[in-house]
Amino acid sequence: MAFLIVSIFPKLFVIELLFFLMGKTLGIIGGGQLGMMLTEAAKNMTAEISNIIVLDPTKNCPASKVGAEQIVADFKDASAINELAKKCDIITYEIESGDSQVLKSLEETCEVNPSPETLEIIQDKLVQKRFLDKNDIPVAEFRGITSKDELESKINEFGLPVLLKTRTGAYDGRGNFKINTLDQIPEALQVFEGQSLMIEKFVDFKMEVSVIASRSTSGEIRTYPLVENIHKDNILNMTIAPARVNETISKNAEEIAHKTMEVLHGAGVFGIEMFVTSNDDVLINEIAPRVHNSGHHTLQSSKTSQFEQHLRAILGLELGDTELIYNTIMYNILGPRDFTGRYKFPTIDLENTFLKMYGKLESKPQRKIGHVNLVDKDGLGIAKLLENVDILSKSIKIIPE
Ligand code: AMP
Repeated sequence: MAFLIVSIFPKLFVIELLFFLMGKTLGIIGGGQLGMMLTEAAKNMTAEISNIIVLDPTKNCPASKVGAEQIVADFKDASAINELAKKCDIITYEIESGDSQVLKSLEETCEVNPSPETLEIIQDKLVQKRFLDKNDIPVAEFRGITSKDELESKINEFGLPVLLKTRTGAYDGRGNFKINTLDQIPEALQVFEGQSLMIEKFVDFKMEVSVIASRSTSGEIRTYPLVENIHKDNILNMTIAPARVNETISKNAEEIAHKTMEVLHGAGVFGIEMFVTSNDDVLINEIAPRVHNSGHHTLQSSKTSQFEQHLRAILGLELGDTELIYNTIMYNILGPRDFTGRYKFPTIDLENTFLKMYGKLESKPQRKIGHVNLVDKDGLGIAKLLENVDILSKSIKIIPE
């Protein structure tokens, strides 16, 4: 048959046709839990994606365990990233700390989405906030800080408390210092010595929320309904979908997310974290240029998971339905504080409750090792789901193997 095709059509055309039929090779920088769930989604898109390669420094990373090939290398290893680009048609990432200059240089070899330009705006919190502010998207008042004098004068202007933040590289609140009194200024500056800084007015929020938003390479935009995020020690503890706010607030937040996607021009899924203030205003806290922990509920609550949506967006396919079919709570499973090592995978036997472990061999303190989605298929209501989360959180024990 192949002989017949080759004899009728020019060879180059046949090769191109075969490649088209085989689908694209997808590269993912980062093969942790987000890379793993992207890989699982990609494996279901056989017509569009034929192969998945992840770059991750940890041998047998979670994505490799669900069928991705792996290049074992540091996220910032330029030659490994180049090797990835040569093997792939399209590259995306699950971490936002990638080197945007290296990613820019790959664009001649393969497509990179979200684009390195979008990543550059997001990576630096001050640049991100300036960008949002310039586009009339609401954020807390902020200023860049380059000296102690400047910090004191801005505190004078804003009033206390303020948050001193590192502009780059922070996660789980590690780059933040809340200054409540003037005598904390030297300590705050010392903690972040040598780093680029900014300050923000402290927002007296009544809820933290987020919108998972997507924009495809064709410019189509879709947002998932607003969800509520509850943190413990600056780490996401649970996400309640939908957020327990009135319709005006959720519409406002979704419109803000939509507008952000219009101006940001990135392709892919973005996690847009926001505050609902005591006056019911909605302010963006920060944007993650990737699939987001607060979107994990979509695996069971929605027709299209955020992982499939991300792939649809970067491949330029029509975006999937984002309607919330079932109210759902996502509860994160973290490694216990007092234990590092191999552990027994927990099991759960509760109806409409879906456990997803990330295949990490070792548990480490406060590290995300899995999550549970509690799906309200029987219309019991969020209050009942919260009761079940409470029972579940006490029964899930991470114990040594
Ligand atoms: P970030 O790392 O900037 O996302 O901040 C981590 C957490 O710090 C957020 O989830 C909030 O709980 C809190 N936070 C950040 N910025 C502010 C702010 N301007 N006012 C009050 N709380 C904040």
